[in-house]
Amino acid sequence: MPFLEVNNLNKYYPITDKDRFHALKDVQLSFDKGELVSIIGESGSGKSTLMNVLGGLDLKFEGEIRVDGENIGHFKEKEMVNFHKEKVGFIFQSFNLVPHLSVLDNVTLAMTLSNVDANTRKERAKEVLEHLGLKDHYKKKPSQLSGGQKQRVAIARALVNDPDIIIADEPTGALDSQTSDQVLDIIEEIAKNGKLVIMVTHSERVASRSTRVVTIDDGKIINDEKRKNIHDHKNTFQIKKRQENKNLGFFAAIRMALLNMKEKLGRNILIALGASIGIMSVILMLALGNGVNDYLTDTMNENVNPMISEARMTEETQEEADEELDTEAPAEQGGGGPGNLAANNPIVQLSKNIAFEESNIAELETIPHVEEIELAYSSFSIGSDTVVYEDESYPFMNFGTISANMTDSNILYGSFPENSEVLITEEMAENVFSTAEDMIGEEVEVKLSVNGSPLTGNYTVSGIYTAGNAIGPASAYDSVFMTMDTFADMNEENGLTVEPNLAYLYADEASKSQMIKDEISDLGYAGSSTDTLAETFTQMLDIFTYILSGVAGISLFVSAIMILTVLYISVVERTQEIGVLKAIGGRNKDIRRIFVSESFLIGLFSGLLGVGIASFISMVGNIAVENLFGTTILHMTPAYALFGILASIVISVVAGVFPANKAARLDPIEALRHD
Ligand code: ADP
Ligand code: MG
Repeated sequence: MPFLEVNNLNKYYPITDKDRFHALKDVQLSFDKGELVSIIGESGSGKSTLMNVLGGLDLKFEGEIRVDGENIGHFKEKEMVNFHKEKVGFIFQSFNLVPHLSVLDNVTLAMTLSNVDANTRKERAKEVLEHLGLKDHYKKKPSQLSGGQKQRVAIARALVNDPDIIIADEPTGALDSQTSDQVLDIIEEIAKNGKLVIMVTHSERVASRSTRVVTIDDGKIINDEKRKNIHDHKNTFQIKKRQENKNLGFFAAIRMALLNMKEKLGRNILIALGASIGIMSVILMLALGNGVNDYLTDTMNENVNPMISEARMTEETQEEADEELDTEAPAEQGGGGPGNLAANNPIVQLSKNIAFEESNIAELETIPHVEEIELAYSSFSIGSDTVVYEDESYPFMNFGTISANMTDSNILYGSFPENSEVLITEEMAENVFSTAEDMIGEEVEVKLSVNGSPLTGNYTVSGIYTAGNAIGPASAYDSVFMTMDTFADMNEENGLTVEPNLAYLYADEASKSQMIKDEISDLGYAGSSTDTLAETFTQMLDIFTYILSGVAGISLFVSAIMILTVLYISVVERTQEIGVLKAIGGRNKDIRRIFVSESFLIGLFSGLLGVGIASFISMVGNIAVENLFGTTILHMTPAYALFGILASIVISVVAGVFPANKAARLDPIEALRHD
């Protein structure tokens, strides 16, 4: 039985939907090991077509091709891959070496695809290369070799897995006659070693070296002539037989991607830089949001006593209290509902001025972890409350009794008010004296309107109040504060009894304050307007941060498209390489893996770069802001960095999937023809 047998081979190339071109017509051939066959024929006669079909690169044929008895037309993908890896080696006219790989890497490529370990790989490749006279050229790139050397590297690549068949399509077509002879010597030696060599050639001189010359014309075999005896197997050169046959490993794929990226370093640095800008902006926006949030929390904590929670009446709690008074029935407890929403709205709440009933205080006392309740009064008015100093009237908006909720940081000058003393805000004092401090010790008349009743009294200014950095109503408006006792006296002097509308709940532990605040709101009371505002503000800030990050995220989308484009270009540039990879047994999966590895690496680098730049900018930015405002504003966290890198990798890999699939699906024959 002949080693390679071709029966009734017909090959058609589809031209249009209806037309097809009959490229090989009823080809009937058989070959044996040890033969060196020259295929000659005019250009366009079908030589390359025949080679591609024989080598299993083109599976769209009719008829039968048997190698070692097996019909390659019936091969499954895995069998075909093994056929390419082990049985057949290709040599091309244009060498088709992978330009960014060294001589050694080019030769080991097939073994890399089979996941042969690095040492075995190199050892075997060096053995073959040395035999072909390329000992001093292992590290060179193909561009640094002469034509003859390139072709010898290509031969080494074809031989390294010790195939049975060598298919050579015009191997000397691009070489001068002297180098041609050297290459032919090698090819002849291969046949003498018991391989079947089928070689396309134009040159009669080349054909004369072969054992047999097959002439093809217009797709038909018109002559088949024996020239010499078939070589008996001399074994002048024995290659160690391959052993394992696994698939391209993860690290090998990464290494191949790295080698290619190194070759186009400038371009890849630019892509990574471009892609990193998106990552950087997203991280910076998150860091900014975080920084502003930290800043707010810090200032809040500085100006607010963490042990204290505020509670105010709402219409809801008032109704409940009234019901209880009317019917003596227990009030319906519980919050939630739409009423609560209104109660928590600081603007609505500020316009109400509802006094606590006894039942309300009793209810608040039932909240767990409340140690003490301090009753206070605060009101908000437009125009009705004034301070009179030397017959001049100064309206103010916010009146309140002081509590432990105020800290020393709220006192700009002077001290907290004692009996018959008041605290006024800086702006009010400045309306009278150019320096607010001069107001301390002065006597003022305070006129208030409490539930429609006018109250007046004379008080000494004990200090100047500042809201510090706190947010909330007190920070924005002119305010007057006195102790609850002074306010009670003021009511009494004017024939009224004090009606507290604000309760300060002292927690037994600072950590329980949030629980108490939640309970206050669940019971239907309003919390501290400052807290509510801060909460609203924080929520707005969060939304704002996400919007900013989202906008920054658009640049991620741009990066993705950029990476996609670049990888597409890379696929086009590397079409020949992909063809070679397929010819030497690279599965679609392996090729996809190489390209996906490349996008993975781009993603990783851009991520790292983005995080690096973002860290640098936040460092510099923080130093600048710290010098100007005494605080830092860009708070990066390891989580943001990790998120940045992961996002970058994911985006890049997703963008790389399409080009990688395109690469994997390339037709090897077309890929190899590409130049
Ligand atoms: P050779 O290698 O002998 O010069 P080829 O085998 O490349 O010739 O081509 C044989 C014939 O098949 C030519 O007429 C060529 O135009 C045609 N042919 C080759 N490839 C294709 C293809 N993909 N589609 C259509 N026709 C093709
Ligand atoms: Mg050809």
